[in-house]
Amino acid sequence: MSDLSPYLGALAALGAMAVTWAARLAHPPRHQAPDVATFITPEPGTRWLACHTTRCAHMTTRHRPAADGAWTCTGCGTTSGGEA
Ligand SMILES: [Zn+2]
Repeated sequence: MSDLSPYLGALAALGAMAVTWAARLAHPPRHQAPDVATFITPEPGTRWLACHTTRCAHMTTRHRPAADGAWTCTGCGTTSGGEA
């Protein structure tokens, strides 16, 4: 009996595959509309810079130019100076 145990395991695996295959045939996946990419046009003069506040979590966000060469984050409103 112990000689058959590997074969019984393989048989069980094949049985499970047959069951899932039959289930997939019975319930084919519905056609789903593909996700549509959304494109945005950034404001002129904006730059993608890293924002190191906890709100933006060091992610790269859009920054508007501010006075004296500083940049204001559009995500949290923090103004960082110069080369951010
Ligand atoms: Zn920010």
